[in-house]
Order: sequence, then structure tokens, then C-alpha cells
Amino acid sequence: MKAIRLAPQFVEAIPENLELGVLYVSMTYATAIHQCACGCGREVVTPFSPTDWKLSFDGENVTLEPSIGNWSFPCRSHYWIRGGKVRWAGSMSQHQIDEGRAHDRVLKANYYGGDVPSVVAKTAAAEVTATDSPIPAQPKRRSAFGEMLRRWTRR
Ligand SMILES: [Zn+2]
Repeated sequence: MKAIRLAPQFVEAIPENLELGVLYVSMTYATAIHQCACGCGREVVTPFSPTDWKLSFDGENVTLEPSIGNWSFPCRSHYWIRGGKVRWAGSMSQHQIDEGRAHDRVLKANYYGGDVPSVVAKTAAAEVTATDSPIPAQPKRRSAFGEMLRRWTRR
């Protein structure tokens, strides 16, 4: 079963058993954890930092930026959490994944001034290649249908 939504639950420490469809957020540890939205049962850890994920909370729902790409899992699922909803992104080729990882390393090296150990489920910069390929004269506001179509054709 796939999770359609991820409801935030603010916790001090991460609980032992994670429920599908819940995003556990620990401000103490500056990290969130959830069960992979594809339903495979694996745990996805998304630490918050200037070069990792950013969390925004509007009082009801959470948005995580950038996207979550679970390349190290067999499911290789890739999705966004926006406004509490899980939005599936197109799957990426190995080349795109490698490019994203390389980009990510550069980002971290620049920020920290050196190499840092890689983090679980870390992927994100891949979004640069994955999501919005810049098309000139693209209207700023895409209709929901256009977005759906775009995603559809990318499969
Ligand atoms: Zn999965």
C-alpha cells in the first residue's frame, strides 16, 4: 500500500515502530523519519541542515524540500512531500542519480569545506536533473493537468 499523505507527528525521540503515513519530526535531533511512502516498510531518515532537507510546517501539514529519492532501497522510489501530500516524481536513470550525487557532494564540500560522511537515504540534489528541466517560455503557473501530463509522459 502506498501512502498518499504524510501527517506530521512531533516527537522528542524517534519511536521504535513507525506507522506508514506518519512523518515523525524530532526538533531535538533536527531530523525526520518516516516509512518509505511506497509501502516497502523501509525507514527513510531525512536530517535537516542547510545542505540536507528543510522542513516547513503551516500548522497542519509539512513540506520537505528537496525531494526524497530512495536509490539505496530496492524500490528506488522518488517522491516529494508537499503540503502533507506525497507526490511521486518520475524515476531516474542511473546516470541522473550519479549526477545528483556528485552535485550533492560538491554542495556539501562547499558548505562544510571538506568531505563529510554520507547520510542515510541522501539523494536530494538529484532533483535538479529530475524535476524541472528548464524550458524557455514555460509559464510560471502550470495547471494541475499540465503537471499531471508532464509526470505521466516522463514515465
Ligand atoms: Zn519503498
